Parts: sequence; C-alpha cells; structure tokens
Amino acid sequence: MKNNLLFIGGTRGDEPIGVEVLKKLSQERSDFDWIVGNKPALKQNTRGFEGNLNRSAPGDKNSPLYASRRAAEILEKTKNYKYIIDLHGTNKQTDIFIIITNPKLKNWQLAALLDIKNIVYWPSFSSELTGPLSEYFPCGLEIECGPKNEPQTEKKLEKILIDFLDNKKNKTVVQQKFEVYNSLKTAPPFSLKEFEETEIDGEKFFPLLIGSYQKDGVVCYKMKKTN
Ligand SMILES: [Zn+2]
Repeated sequence: MKNNLLFIGGTRGDEPIGVEVLKKLSQERSDFDWIVGNKPALKQNTRGFEGNLNRSAPGDKNSPLYASRRAAEILEKTKNYKYIIDLHGTNKQTDIFIIITNPKLKNWQLAALLDIKNIVYWPSFSSELTGPLSEYFPCGLEIECGPKNEPQTEKKLEKILIDFLDNKKNKTVVQQKFEVYNSLKTAPPFSLKEFEETEIDGEKFFPLLIGSYQKDGVVCYKMKKTN
C-alpha cells in the first residue's frame, strides 16, 4: 500500500542521519514510504556522485550524469505524494531546523505541523544554491540536522518524526521564521554562532551554516527574522 508521506534520506551521501532514523522507524511502523536519495554516494560516504544531487533539480532523465538522472527520477516519484520531507545533516551546531526552498503556502503549512522551532526560507539566490530537490516538491521541505554525527541529534530527529506521524503537536514549541537574504564573504575578527544575532558594519543578521560553503567564498549565510 502506498502512503501519503514520502521521506528521503541520504540525498547527500555524507549525511546518513536520515537513513539511519528511517531504517529504524520503518521497522516499527508502515505509515510512510521512504527512499535513499543517493545510494552510490551513501555507499562511498561522499557528498555527491556524478554531480551534487541536491543541486541538480529538476534534473534530466537522459543526462550522462547520475545526479541529474536521479533528481528527475525522484521528482517524478514525488508527484504521487501529499507530503515529501528530505532529511539532511550538517557538522554545524545548528540544532534541527526546517529549510523551505519554495515559499508556497502549503509548504509553510507543512512546516507548522512539525515540532521544530526554526524555519528558514532559503531561496536559491546565487549559483552555489540552485537546484535543490525540495524546490520542486508538490508539497515538501528539508529538515537539516546538526551536528549530524551526535547520537542525541539522531534521537531528537526520531522523536520529531514520530510525533509528526502520530499527529502530535507540542504547543509549547513556538516557531520562528527566518529568511536567508545574502552571504557574508569576509570573516569578522570575532567568532559567529549559528542562529545568534550579530552585527557587522552596522548590519544586524543571524548567521547560518558558518564555514559550510567556504569553497564558494561564503563565510556564512545571513538571515533576517520574518516573524
Ligand atoms: Zn544536506
């Protein structure tokens, strides 16, 4: 039987946290479907395989590159589901937060069903960001989990997914919305903290994913609060 909900784990091969949690949950319940996004990358523990899957959407079935073919294949599959949730992991101290790459109303409504405090709207405003799978989901989002290798992060993700599946909403979680609007290109002479407001040259912002996109010349992404 097919379910309404599709989870994707291992869209990036070096982010197995989602796969681990989904494997465990699928032994206990059958009210969701799930897939491994990127099996070859997961097998070799690399971020991508023949391209970066989460930068390859909408993809092309006839591409010579696996990432592009797989993006098209996954997006075809997502058309059969009401909700699609793509699970990610980061080394950074971000805790668990939601990324919305397409700001349509039903994606925000889905985010509101999850017991996750921080919701980040992250449009693909520059070249290193274009082509995330979730931008093309009929209704869906990404959950980013950090630090990805800590057992308590995995435990927390598991609890969030179970509560979501059980339709249990913890009313004490007050959600905060952020929007990524730019990136910081020059490192300041002091250290930055994830989701902690800072001020540089008179500009106040909340840093996100500090050091993750160094090869693209990005110190961190800059967010503003939107609620
Ligand atoms: Zn990721």
